[in-house]
Amino acid sequence: MRAHPLFDLITQRLHGGRNLVVLTGAGISAESGIPTFRGDDGFWTRGSRNYRPEELATWATFVAEPEVVWPWYLWRLACCRGSQPNAGHRALVAMDSLLQDQFLLVTQNVDGLHSRAGSPENRTFHIHGNLERMRCADACSTRTWAVPAALRTFSKGDSIQPDDAPHLRCPTCGGWARPHVLWFDECYDERWFRFDSTMRAAAAAEVLVIVGGSGSTNLPIQMATNALNTGALVVELNVAESGFTPYAEASDGGLVTGPSGTTLPQLLAALRESMALHGG
Ligand SMILES: [Zn+2]
Repeated sequence: MRAHPLFDLITQRLHGGRNLVVLTGAGISAESGIPTFRGDDGFWTRGSRNYRPEELATWATFVAEPEVVWPWYLWRLACCRGSQPNAGHRALVAMDSLLQDQFLLVTQNVDGLHSRAGSPENRTFHIHGNLERMRCADACSTRTWAVPAALRTFSKGDSIQPDDAPHLRCPTCGGWARPHVLWFDECYDERWFRFDSTMRAAAAAEVLVIVGGSGSTNLPIQMATNALNTGALVVELNVAESGFTPYAEASDGGLVTGPSGTTLPQLLAALRESMALHGG
């Protein structure tokens, strides 16, 4: 099958060991059946109170009511664990193996599906964090750790029971652990979210491929701006136009329409063919 002309352009631009950065957003997760947990998807009731997702995903609510915020995140984690990586996730793992140091995956998704598919942690930046990990709420250390395997699976509406509580504590200081995610009232930084590294990678990329994003959050838009300013090729893979489309069109790139479970394997095939012809 003939490759999409933009995929040919991507492979040309990557000749000579130049870098590809792929940014993924909610679209690739939606193809695995993961909801956005916004609006009705993420609604949460506790006692007589209803919480909106935009309220639960904040430092302010966590500090006031950690026992409300935690079960919501543990339920979300259970939902994500019930979904499987798809062909798009797997194609990105294969791209990493093919391109190695020429490749970087940056994801806005917190569901951990890229890691479960096999994308290596050293070349996967989770710029909004990862539901599979927690860290000390008081930041007594800079480490994050996996959600303890001994913690039970939460359902919608569950609350923390005495047996759960020890698993939600920082093993170093004994204070509350918190989900390792970026909240609405927090800022990107290098320590937790690799902000500076992400910006440098976007500025150094020859090609930026944006997959299934909405173009409504700050750092991804800055990545696209940086890539454009340094003359990178920006290509968007999405089911419809988004806030990223103008950036793609302002470079020599554009939008390739379709589900990422189809377009990413096609891009992988084009990369493999090109490398077989021209070498790395
Ligand atoms: Zn601590």
